Amino acid sequence: MRGIIISGSNNSFDVNCDDDVLRRCSIKGKKLKTEGGFYNPLCPGDMVEIEADELSETSGRISALLPRKNRFTRWNVKGRSPQLLAANVDLLLCVTTPDEPPFRPRFIDRALAQAEEAGIEAVIVCNKRDLPSAADADVEARLSDWEELGYRILKVSAHSGEGLTELAELIEEKRCVLIGQSGVGKSSLINAFDSSYALKTGELSEKYGRGTHTTVKGVLLKLCIKSSLTGGRQNVYTSLIDTPGVRRFVLHGIEPENLALYFREMKSLVGSCTFGMSCTHKSEAGCKILEAVHAGIVSEERYESWLRIQEELATGSWAD
Ligand code: GDP
Repeated sequence: MRGIIISGSNNSFDVNCDDDVLRRCSIKGKKLKTEGGFYNPLCPGDMVEIEADELSETSGRISALLPRKNRFTRWNVKGRSPQLLAANVDLLLCVTTPDEPPFRPRFIDRALAQAEEAGIEAVIVCNKRDLPSAADADVEARLSDWEELGYRILKVSAHSGEGLTELAELIEEKRCVLIGQSGVGKSSLINAFDSSYALKTGELSEKYGRGTHTTVKGVLLKLCIKSSLTGGRQNVYTSLIDTPGVRRFVLHGIEPENLALYFREMKSLVGSCTFGMSCTHKSEAGCKILEAVHAGIVSEERYESWLRIQEELATGSWAD
């Protein structure tokens, strides 16, 4: 039988099985054949092969991991190893706010680069548009920078409902992963889509160690989107993977010298500098990336993000 990982860690995973039964499963023989080095062997969205327990209807063993369409990862600084956040997703929703907590564009640039690495379409969701600071010129300028690069921007408010119909349309029948700093409103958005989740979230806190402010473990939630957001249509579903509260997003799987390949506006310039592939894009004459920054084709803000991430990857130092 097959199933999908809902949540879990170490060697205990909740799996929604093909027979629609949720089973708590351990890994058969304690080890799975997976690609190397991850802090966690499985994550929400992973499809697995299950052997049901003959003695208990709600437990089983995971005997194999089915091939992944994609996976979204980060470097887990504390665990000193890469961490799987979500697998087999259609969309990454990068949630940010103009304020409360302060707008952190570098966090988004990191998540966008990681999405490029994973080959996952990323959308920027700017929540809390009801706040007076939502019209801040610097925030607007950064949002339009990303829009020009082809990233879709949705300006929403989980409180006032602004933009939620458009967001609902985007995530309908898709599996999405939510990423954002703690406090940007991920839980509020989940509850705004499916109000029955207000109750379920309470249940989930016990079940998945989900605190009021941070999600300790990632979890896959199946939401039935409110009909007021779907033009009256009932039974419209979406799957959202809520990731653990991430304060700082450190990239994984990208060599510092290749980082420009994951910045859309720099990718096509890589290799065309006078010093070719050995150009560091920092001070060389004939550097096409620096020329593009001076010409305003690559924004200074994005170049600054690239510099900082590149430094971080090269030195392995990601102190705040
Ligand atoms: P999470 O940590 O990302 O899950 O964030 P929460 O959903 O717990 O929200 C953090 C705080 O922001 C809570 O006090 C929410 O009431 C508030 N909040 C969430 N969405 C909005 C919004 O659209 N507008 C305003 N003004 N506050 C919001």
